Amino acid sequence: MNKTDKKGYFGKFGGQFVPEALLPPLLEVEEAMENIMPTEDYQNELNDLLTHYVGRQSPLTFCPNLSAKLGFKLWLKREDLLHTGAHKINNALGQGLLAKKMGKTHLIAETGAGQHGVATATAAARLKLRCTIFMGAEDVERQSMNVMRMKLLGATVIPVESGSRTLKDAINETLRFWISHQADTFYCFGTAAGPHPFPTLVKRLQSVIGREARTQMLTQAGRLPDVVVACVGGGSNAIGMLHPFVKDADVKLVGVEAGGTGEPGCYHSAPINLGSPGILHGHVTMLIQDEDGQIQPSHSISAGLDYPGVGPEHSYLADIGRVHYGMICDESALNAFRELTLEEGIIPALESSHALAWVLDHASELPQGGDVLVNLSGRGDKDLGIVKQYIQF
Ligand SMILES: *Cc1c(COP(=O)(O)O)cnc(C)c1O
Repeated sequence: MNKTDKKGYFGKFGGQFVPEALLPPLLEVEEAMENIMPTEDYQNELNDLLTHYVGRQSPLTFCPNLSAKLGFKLWLKREDLLHTGAHKINNALGQGLLAKKMGKTHLIAETGAGQHGVATATAAARLKLRCTIFMGAEDVERQSMNVMRMKLLGATVIPVESGSRTLKDAINETLRFWISHQADTFYCFGTAAGPHPFPTLVKRLQSVIGREARTQMLTQAGRLPDVVVACVGGGSNAIGMLHPFVKDADVKLVGVEAGGTGEPGCYHSAPINLGSPGILHGHVTMLIQDEDGQIQPSHSISAGLDYPGVGPEHSYLADIGRVHYGMICDESALNAFRELTLEEGIIPALESSHALAWVLDHASELPQGGDVLVNLSGRGDKDLGIVKQYIQF
């Protein structure tokens, strides 16, 4: 394992802890970020896709009914209304287009629940790139609808049988495959984690969320929000939403981790709240690990938050105290899911429900008469099979 230099660090987190053979393709991505992404050609084509294919900008929706109950104004950034139903398409298309401009013909990606796999397969279909998705064998069995979507979109889905047969192993396998297929292949990483430059690349592509929301708040509310809240899995929707507000000192920023069942000793997916620093997937970050550094299985009702690590910039923002990271258990998330559906007619993803649940559970501490902005990272249609197990109809 090789630590190159200080680039790609956020405080003591981040870096590039990968086998030597992965350094050339990572450097190639970094150079493309410098030389291709800023060009008018790339920017115009990406903006055109985001506008006319993805459906940006996404609306900022005021919630009159919940606001009346809560005593402050609740605003939602509607990433659920995008093509494929979540923020992940912003990243997949941005990386796919970059790959194409680099002359690559093959996109590869890991996926856990299948959402990033579907987004990548979608981008690959549109951009006419070959696509291979690595998915833990356990997840392939659990997520048959998303496997079908990926295959319909023309992707090859490879079940990964190693380790716990889930997301963590799928990432390792995708990195391994990339080593031997560098010439024509681009690894489209799914969240703001992984070795440098992925945390920075994904942040750049997802920051469109917070940039839009900041402008929309100024236009529609006439002021910046008092609090901005987003859920944290690997951390891509959260860094995209929160980062454009980091310099606004009066805006409180909140990331929400998944606390699982909330019972002592239960599985959870809250590395910032309950983990410790370590190395996973090529970077230093907060991790759920035992005393020997073995990664522990994470669990949440929302598959998208189910990752034992977290993007390094979140570990840093927690360290310096700029972002507060809360924790929400399954039950609270389900409650928020029901509330938003009944009160505002919006069915949120279970991941996004964690962000909303933090607001509902902490309402008494939030500024009465103020403005609270929540990133609604995705729609909940995909989660009805899970919700059915908990809610009586
Ligand atoms: C994947 C997913 C997440 C979690 O991923 P991040 O990288 O933390 O954003 C959150 N919400 C939805 C709807 C997702 O699909």
